[in-house]
Amino acid sequence: MSSSRLAKLIWRTGRVAQPAPEAPTEPADTFRTYPELAGSAQVRHVDCGSCNGCEVEVGAVFGPVYDAERYGTRLVASPRHADVLLVTGVVTHNMREPLRRTVDATPRPRVVVAVGDCAVDGGLFRDGYGVAGFVEEVVGVDLTVPGCPPEPEAIVAALRRVTGR
Ligand code: SF4
Repeated sequence: MSSSRLAKLIWRTGRVAQPAPEAPTEPADTFRTYPELAGSAQVRHVDCGSCNGCEVEVGAVFGPVYDAERYGTRLVASPRHADVLLVTGVVTHNMREPLRRTVDATPRPRVVVAVGDCAVDGGLFRDGYGVAGFVEEVVGVDLTVPGCPPEPEAIVAALRRVTGR
């Protein structure tokens, strides 16, 4: 494709991808690494009562702009195939038991990531009548990504911690 055609295409479509950012800089000892995953992780997303704001960001993480597959992660349809659970939303009463069972169904070593303020500490919906608690009150959490909603870069950084890439 000629450079003028490419420039026109970029002008028309806007940003279609962005270069890989620097690797996360926090010291490695703040989070257990998972060498047994050998640089790749299958990811199951679990919505426990989100407003869907976090889902939009998780969708962006695996879309063409943020492209988390570059770092060895991939969305899968079953916890039985997953290494990582990305959990969003406060845990509603109806989702408490399904969340427990989902974690139980995920083979070890498994990494539970609480994504968004609701998942981390209840956020906006903490005292809602239908809320059983935040994620750590129901299952163990290995990694948290705060924010309402968290930026895709922060979710990508968490996944890169898991794969080490
Ligand atoms: S953290 Fe914010 S965006 Fe995410 S589910 Fe809660 S209210 Fe919605």
